[in-house]
Amino acid sequence: MSGAPASATFPKNARAALANPPLLKAIAHIEETLVSGRRRAIDALPEFEALRDAGRDLKAHTLAHLDLYLEAFERKVMDAGGHVHWAADAAEANSIILDICKAAGARTVTKGKSMITEEVGLNAFLEGNGVRPVETDLGEYIIQLRGETPSHIIAPAVHVNKEQVAADFRRAHTDLDPRRNLDEPVSLLAEARGVLRERFLAADVGITGANFLVAETGSTVIVTNEGNGDLSQILPKTHIVLASIEKVVPTLEDVATIMRLLARSATGQEMSVYTTFSTGPRRPGDPDGPEAFHVVLLDNGRSAMLGTEFEDMLRCIRCGACINHCPVYRSIGGHAYGSVYPGPMGSVLTPSLYGLETSAHLANASTLCGRCESVCPMRIPLPKMLRHWREKEFERHLTPRKARLGLAAWRLLANRPRLYGLTTRLAAWGLARLAGKSGALTSLPLAGGWTKWRDLPAPEGGTFRTEWAKRGRH
Ligand code: SF4
Repeated sequence: MSGAPASATFPKNARAALANPPLLKAIAHIEETLVSGRRRAIDALPEFEALRDAGRDLKAHTLAHLDLYLEAFERKVMDAGGHVHWAADAAEANSIILDICKAAGARTVTKGKSMITEEVGLNAFLEGNGVRPVETDLGEYIIQLRGETPSHIIAPAVHVNKEQVAADFRRAHTDLDPRRNLDEPVSLLAEARGVLRERFLAADVGITGANFLVAETGSTVIVTNEGNGDLSQILPKTHIVLASIEKVVPTLEDVATIMRLLARSATGQEMSVYTTFSTGPRRPGDPDGPEAFHVVLLDNGRSAMLGTEFEDMLRCIRCGACINHCPVYRSIGGHAYGSVYPGPMGSVLTPSLYGLETSAHLANASTLCGRCESVCPMRIPLPKMLRHWREKEFERHLTPRKARLGLAAWRLLANRPRLYGLTTRLAAWGLARLAGKSGALTSLPLAGGWTKWRDLPAPEGGTFRTEWAKRGRH
């Protein structure tokens, strides 16, 4: 698969991110925007928990019959006059899309926001083959100007502040008045809108992802807040949808169910601003729409996840809630993960897509606090799957040497209960003495990674086993 991640450098990336105050300040906004918004939206919907059950069950059912629903989807797309292409991996998807662009004589393509095109590295591939891709989602447009990748699956430029955006616009939009005022977000938005409007009109092909593929109608569905996806798919003569196979759902009714979970979990909205269904190319009498409609269905490692302990991950609807609530993501941002998909969902998905050898660190980029699972609208057991990856990392001898030595020492003690009891009692006593009256340790050999960033509370009272034994006597 192309586009393999650079997550092998996660520890180094994380250290760099922790020492980047502007980045940390930008990420801090997630609490007051996405996290608070989700809380408010969910508090206002009494049936939210029941909807989560329904969403989980319908996706689990679809995955159990994925082949049937995908074939039904393909038939319906063809009935509507569209074309379906099957891509086993990123290279095949890119090559199919390039062929369609060449057949359409395309020099410029506009793109709606799509993580799947990031996954296959489509932009670099098209550019390398003489086709200019233009991102039209504001966040994606900003990071395209900066030559970066998204740092969040729903807010790709969450790591960038408005001063940086203004500087990027001045650098890129050299035909505009250099004295123009770009101090406010609204002026940045207006400038991007004006520049992109020209691009929409000039594009030969529009490329979007899909939030859903509907088996009963052959429709692809996108949800956006900017309407850019709609212009990308309606204005050019050719519309290409790149979607991964697990996006299929049986019926329109199922889309409605999951939609009620998606926007609330992602941005705290009841609904995203635009929800657009595309079914085939323009028919006679239609006021707009493309003349050609292509859907590229991408596997890229997903079918191999079916029937494994990672199948549940295919229920993901890319809402980003697990990312927004992850204390690790909130401390380092998305680029440190070195993968298209950051945070807990990315740490589970990335090894499945690219192999554990290049991404073994990611399963450890978690405190296993469980917040990700508690907010996931599809009830995906993310911590359980992270533990599965840790087991596989250990089995394949990918765990760092220090961690293996630590585990070996722990096993030595755990197999000898009396020695274990003595050692833990001594450790608790020693740590309490070291901490003194402050009750916290500010530095500690072998735990410098912890005490560098926060104090370690000293043990209070006895060990767990001594306290347990005391209770047993009462
Ligand atoms: S794993 Fe769950 S919370 Fe995370 S992006 Fe996917 S659906 Fe949303």
